[in-house]
Amino acid sequence: MRSNLCLSDLGAGENPPVAAVRVTGGLWGERLRVNREITLPVEYEQCKKTGRLEAWKLTWKPGDPNPPHIYWDSDVAKWLEAAGYSLALYPDPELEKRCDEVIGWMAAAQQPDGYLNTHYIAVAPDKRWSNLRDCHELYCAGHLMEAAVAYFEGTGKRLFLDIVCRYADYIGKVFGRGENQLRGYPGHQEIELALVKLARVTGETRYLDLAKYFIDERGQKPYYYDIEKARENRPDSWLDHPGPNNLPPYNHMQAHAPVREQQDADGHAVRACYLYAAMASVAKATGDQSLVDACHTLWDSVTTKRMYITGGVGSSRFGERFTFDYDLPNEEAYAETCAAIALVFFANRMMCLEADAKYADVMERALYNGIISGVSHDGTHFFYDNILASHPLYHTFSRQKSPRRQEWYPTSCCPPNIARLLASLGSYVYTIGDQTVWTHLYIDSQAELDLGNGKKARITQATEYPWKGDIALTIGLDAPADFTLALRIPGWCRQVTVTVNGKAVVLADVMSNGYALLSRNWQDGDQVALHLDMPVERVYAHPAVRQNGGKVALQRGPIVYCLEEADNGPNLADLRLPPAAELTVVTGPAELDGAPIIIIGPALRRDLTPWAGKLYATDRPAYTACQMTAIPYFLWANRAPGEMTVWITE
Ligand code: ZN
Repeated sequence: MRSNLCLSDLGAGENPPVAAVRVTGGLWGERLRVNREITLPVEYEQCKKTGRLEAWKLTWKPGDPNPPHIYWDSDVAKWLEAAGYSLALYPDPELEKRCDEVIGWMAAAQQPDGYLNTHYIAVAPDKRWSNLRDCHELYCAGHLMEAAVAYFEGTGKRLFLDIVCRYADYIGKVFGRGENQLRGYPGHQEIELALVKLARVTGETRYLDLAKYFIDERGQKPYYYDIEKARENRPDSWLDHPGPNNLPPYNHMQAHAPVREQQDADGHAVRACYLYAAMASVAKATGDQSLVDACHTLWDSVTTKRMYITGGVGSSRFGERFTFDYDLPNEEAYAETCAAIALVFFANRMMCLEADAKYADVMERALYNGIISGVSHDGTHFFYDNILASHPLYHTFSRQKSPRRQEWYPTSCCPPNIARLLASLGSYVYTIGDQTVWTHLYIDSQAELDLGNGKKARITQATEYPWKGDIALTIGLDAPADFTLALRIPGWCRQVTVTVNGKAVVLADVMSNGYALLSRNWQDGDQVALHLDMPVERVYAHPAVRQNGGKVALQRGPIVYCLEEADNGPNLADLRLPPAAELTVVTGPAELDGAPIIIIGPALRRDLTPWAGKLYATDRPAYTACQMTAIPYFLWANRAPGEMTVWITE
């Protein structure tokens, strides 16, 4: 039976469907074209080449090579999700045929009870739900659900949605607090936020209830993973008790304490941020204030103490995890692409929960820096970890995956994750709620937004943002309409002007939590112009970030810059930027055609004479003048391999 979900009117409403916002030009127009035309086909071929697609045919037999891995399903699902978003805006019969073929295999693979997982059906049929802690079964299920929702919304086809509903119904029977149910929850979160999406698209509250169950049960004692381990006779592992580190058990998967008692962003960063995003979604859907409070606590922990300037999170490659406050190493950074994407989900759900521009500020920081750094300019190579300083030889002797983007990874969560985020980017530009159109991102685009009451607003953004700070918004209406257009004034911006039909708006009268609220009876053709001053800013890390003492980073608008050896020569650590050096913005080099704006300025390097033939010298160094060239961080490693650094000695 369908019922209305308790979706509160709190916050900045809800995201519009992907089909409502078409990104038309500029940086994102090109990134999204590459994603659609290059990355999606490349990822399909990778899934095919590596056996991930074939796995759905369930032809693998014991003794065959290349058994379906426990997380393969999630990679195919993310690719399907990206395809679903893409099809919503760009019909492509070939792509749709490929998707339908895979979905057909899934339909055939689904077990009579609804279960669906290639690894467990083909490789370990008697081990279903035997290791929730490590084996990603519910994680894969969640990705299938997100993909099915996207594919249904993009194509109107129900088969995939029906498959995942049957699977979700079965999971709802297996897990819960009832007799004969397993009182477990996933080791890798993801299904929680997927179930909220499934509830929204089907109107079935039982999926929301299941999401809430997984969140509420997490970290309760006795620990389910202890019970599971005893039942399965499984030996102890570092995931149970991260031993010498003295961390509480199950801290890695945020199951060390009930979620409402967790004070710090802890453990594996992707799991953490998927969990937090789901908590915010469930909090909004249920009005649970204790969950809202927990989200605030964790948001503050992530963004005020444990986040890179690039929006990357999870600073340690040991456990791909959050560590402790202000621990943000640069060369050893992890900052997995998936974790920055998960942070965007968290930010997006928080802004839906409450209208405060600080959420969109973080979302924008991650999008323009630590996420699009994850894919090469040509859309064919991917970063898993997004380091903030690199030496081409260092990775040979460290656990760094590589200072170069790779075609694919054995664990290839990041490439399809970035594809699905980019393919759905339009839906993050606005949210709509309570007679208000909240504008969070400035992207050259055309939107057709449902205002409720049968009214639609067509909003066109014409802008060269992030390279220029002028945004022209044109409102298209069939009939005049009363609503509020809320414009986010980015946190990085100090000087703003807003005009409506050429008349200046007094911002002090309309600002609320970082948004300029323009409420009026809007007429067809109304023009809103926003100018955001975009000088080069010098950014300093909190003094407790020990890795960045005496260093400065350069940011212009939302773009964080870096130095590369290709422009500045080797030994970037010795390049010094005088505090008063005048920084100029100029057009970037042709080989970086994604960088219309780079930053140049006078810098200094030490004269090496005192160290001739020596490693250590006592002479006071002399300095020689040189020029510094900084490029957008997201474009690093698109040229010859070399050093890179975000933080520059001042
Ligand atoms: Zn990943």
